[in-house]
Amino acid sequence: MEYEKTRKRHVEYMAQLLPGYIDRLSWSRAKINEEQNNALRSLLNHAKVNSEWHSKRLGDIDPATVTIEDIKKIPPMTKEDLMENWDSIVTDKRAKLSDANTHISEIKSDKYFLDDYHVITSGGSSGVRGIFLYDWHGWALSYISLIRGFSKFLKLGDKDYVKPMASISAYAAAHATSALAQTFSSSLVEIKHIPVTLPLEKIVKELNCIKPDLIHCFPNILSSLCEKNKLGELVIDPKAFWCTSEPLLPGDREITEKTWNTSVMNTWSASELNGGTFPCSLGEGVHISEDICIVEAINRDGRPTPIGSKSEKIYITNLFNHVMPLIRYEITDEFEFLPNQCKCGSSYQKIKDVCGRSDDLFVYDNDIIVHPLNFYSPLFQTSVVLEFMVTQTKNGAQIDVITTGDYDLKELEKTIKSNLLRNGVSNPDVCIKRVDKIKRSETGKLKRFIPLK
Ligand SMILES: [Zn+2]
Repeated sequence: MEYEKTRKRHVEYMAQLLPGYIDRLSWSRAKINEEQNNALRSLLNHAKVNSEWHSKRLGDIDPATVTIEDIKKIPPMTKEDLMENWDSIVTDKRAKLSDANTHISEIKSDKYFLDDYHVITSGGSSGVRGIFLYDWHGWALSYISLIRGFSKFLKLGDKDYVKPMASISAYAAAHATSALAQTFSSSLVEIKHIPVTLPLEKIVKELNCIKPDLIHCFPNILSSLCEKNKLGELVIDPKAFWCTSEPLLPGDREITEKTWNTSVMNTWSASELNGGTFPCSLGEGVHISEDICIVEAINRDGRPTPIGSKSEKIYITNLFNHVMPLIRYEITDEFEFLPNQCKCGSSYQKIKDVCGRSDDLFVYDNDIIVHPLNFYSPLFQTSVVLEFMVTQTKNGAQIDVITTGDYDLKELEKTIKSNLLRNGVSNPDVCIKRVDKIKRSETGKLKRFIPLK
């Protein structure tokens, strides 16, 4: 009951902000720059006063006069920095990593942390488990920045026209996509959640029932949906598809657009920066949500990547979530900034579709496809698991984990086994082993999923 009361208040807060943030998408370059400067000053000021860790690092910076150009004087931070200094990075002394970990391992459905915060977890592309704290405003903005680019399809603001959106995504309350959908589910946008971990037949059945105008999904499910349409089993008429989290292959986009005569839009997002981009109305590529974040494309040597070439990594500065200041935070995704203003008319920087986050699917006998979420949801929800690598075996997986404490890994094996069973893998065999080190590739990236050759 308490949850529902708080949630309703949160929905109202979000709904009040939404129209203004949709209007921002048509801002001029000058207006975007002005907002970035102002928001950066406010973030740095808050971090300097309230975060012990940031206060030391921001020593010479004067938040009152700082500009985007000065950001290069601030040393970058990594996920390891965040996880090692979590308690002194966050700006609310009550928030402790140990409590956040407990919260994550216990939640079954969306829940507030310390009255009005949210905690989410993710491995991202580095394979290291991260715990991210969002404040009241930051969580609302996460949702707004994710959906505002789709206002045309959802007819946001038109009270007489509510069309459902289906989200085929993670089922865990500890992941941003499903947690946000749960918090902000309202008459504004009716989001029907379909766990991506369900067998395909069940997903098809649900979609036939919902008949969504907008389908939010991982790109690797597109070809299967097209196939089901061809067979006459999937009968829907979506106006658009919205893909996240994984590389969208040109072939998948093409066949889906042809099948439903619709557009497939791709966005990039991260647990550290929900809604970091919004789709370009012309199709391929995305725009960076520069009114709420600063993204720098960085080369291997730490210098800015020239426009028109691919970066080694990016530094993100989240301007809207003050409780956990992420300032020049490193993410190892490859971004390619495109030159010139986009032909769609947007003044926001456009980038090529991001392909730097490929989680390979495991395909078992009889063409049974198992989504990586079936492994990483339970793994990341276990607080002692720091890093992992999943290697596919003939009818299951061998999982190496680095842990930070005692935990009965047999329980984890059982959960993953039952996930595989639910997907149709018969007699699944899952073995989890504690290791001291997980081998990384030359670039330092961790390959978390190794399919069977
Ligand atoms: Zn555009």
